[in-house]
Amino acid sequence: MAPFPGHHCPNCKKSFSQTCVKKGHMVQCSKCSSWIMPGKSCATCAAREAAEARKKKGGKKRRSNLSQGGARLLN
Ligand SMILES: [Zn+2]
Ligand SMILES: [Zn+2]
Repeated sequence: MAPFPGHHCPNCKKSFSQTCVKKGHMVQCSKCSSWIMPGKSCATCAAREAAEARKKKGGKKRRSNLSQGGARLLN
């Protein structure tokens, strides 16, 4: 079994433990064994698959233009 993540359970907010596993607070990704929240896609695999997809496409595809006025922050 993969080591538990070194943070609190996002579901019950307590230290992540075997209890969380039994209660289904977190599940292991079937591909990479990372701990993920049930029903959520694995960020590790998603990042890896995105990187692989980029590689296949030769890195030619650009991101669509994002609106430039949306990042105004209050200081
Ligand atoms: Zn928990
Ligand atoms: Zn994964």
